[in-house]
Amino acid sequence: DKINIAIDGPAGAGKSTIARMVAGRLHYVYVDTGAMYRAATWYFLQRGIGPDEVDNVLRYLPELDIELLPGEHGQQVRVNGQDVTEEIRSMAVNAQVSRYAQIEGLRERLVSLQRQMALRKGVVMDGRDIGTCVLPDAEVKVFMTASVEERARRRYKEMKEQNEISFEELVRSIEERDRLDREREVSPLRQAEDAQLLDTTQMSLDEVADHIVSLCRT
Ligand code: C5P
Repeated sequence: DKINIAIDGPAGAGKSTIARMVAGRLHYVYVDTGAMYRAATWYFLQRGIGPDEVDNVLRYLPELDIELLPGEHGQQVRVNGQDVTEEIRSMAVNAQVSRYAQIEGLRERLVSLQRQMALRKGVVMDGRDIGTCVLPDAEVKVFMTASVEERARRRYKEMKEQNEISFEELVRSIEERDRLDREREVSPLRQAEDAQLLDTTQMSLDEVADHIVSLCRT
């Protein structure tokens, strides 16, 4: 029988790569909840509505339609029909997403979408609050971490072509995002009591994916 798998942890811990690998091996559906917060952030930045304008965010929330479509190179993210897969990885979105993610009404909307996606089981979902809030009944829960230097190194490799910022700036931006995610009042980033802690600093991708798949088979 199919189960649900919740993968949480700080920015750059490798959650999305691993979640995609695990979903591929089990023929499950991968849901990247960070992409949903990023898509919402892109949309509101585009409309000129800042993260402090909570009333405006809530007013325009009903006009926001986010789709996650499985594609050749991972999933495609669409906002009101427009492909924003690349745009949501920009530094502008990176810098603001944790602020929009503190807005309770926005979280409620995204969490309810996420729960709908997991109703039929067979989902690997990654984020910050999946094991604690979105899917507290997930059969397998993993909290992935790695040292901040290792996380920054992995992210830096991903974005090198763009050469947008220095390594030091990236470390700082990851630390700032972690701080905001840990300290926010609604569904802060934390390990669920029944989640298994997995420090991936010294592990290869295959080792991590194998380990999670083995948790699903016991
Ligand atoms: O996973 P990713 O780094 O793309 O997530 C971007 C941001 O979205 C996080 O830093 C966090 O502020 C927010 N987020 C969240 N809850 C989730 C997933 C992401 O608050 N379940």
